[in-house]
Amino acid sequence: MIRNLPALFIFLSLFLISCTTAPITGRGQLILLSEYQEIQLGLTAYNQALKENKLSTNKAYIDSVRQVGTRIGPVTGKNYNWEFNVIESDVINAWCLPGGKIAFYEGILDIMDNEAQIAAVMGHEIAHATARHGGERISLGILAQVGAVALQIAMRKKDSAVQYAVFQAYAPTVLIGVILPYSRLQESEADQIGLIYMARAGYNPEEAVTFWEIMYETNKGKPRPPEWLSTHPPTLKRIQAMREFLPEAMEIYLASEDKKIPVRQLH
Ligand SMILES: [Zn+2]
Repeated sequence: MIRNLPALFIFLSLFLISCTTAPITGRGQLILLSEYQEIQLGLTAYNQALKENKLSTNKAYIDSVRQVGTRIGPVTGKNYNWEFNVIESDVINAWCLPGGKIAFYEGILDIMDNEAQIAAVMGHEIAHATARHGGERISLGILAQVGAVALQIAMRKKDSAVQYAVFQAYAPTVLIGVILPYSRLQESEADQIGLIYMARAGYNPEEAVTFWEIMYETNKGKPRPPEWLSTHPPTLKRIQAMREFLPEAMEIYLASEDKKIPVRQLH
């Protein structure tokens, strides 16, 4: 029994550490890092990304991304030290690291029509950060490892062939059964929160649906989707789910009459 104590202690302390909720959706989350730790990780990754990439000199793109960013940042209720960059690359990609460090690649701006679509992608990426999806995934990884240790302890008296079979089954089960659905859930949550953020900032949420339709068309028939597309699959099902979130976002957008921004074209 004594040997089981460390695992038991880890399990108990994990559940005591932090139960938190995502913004807007109110979904309960188990996150084992503090928000401060997560922001520090974001900062490290950000400095690395700035070193490894060349910043864009396209003034129109930079101005538009900063314009949209300075409007969306404040409506999230997060007091981040926001930074907005454009990276010189034709890759279709954008990200927001914990702590509000944001980058758009020129490639994703090339396929957009207007600033409202920048707001759609930015709202979605910022939502991943404010809902602490990174911390949640790291926590899941830790839990999966602790689960493996606990399993090892439970199995230590079993025949080695039985042990082998159980471990073989365990890893795919965790990946397919827990981590992958989680990522789909996070994507859907980021879509939902992103629509609210862009609406609060005065951008028409319908442009988010238009943008994902552009992504769907861009992706169609391509053998290998770009990196961002593979983590953000623009399936018709996803676009349909976004339409279902639209009415709530439209209500917010229409109520913010004075903030409504004329749709500025990008090209
Ligand atoms: Zn996403």
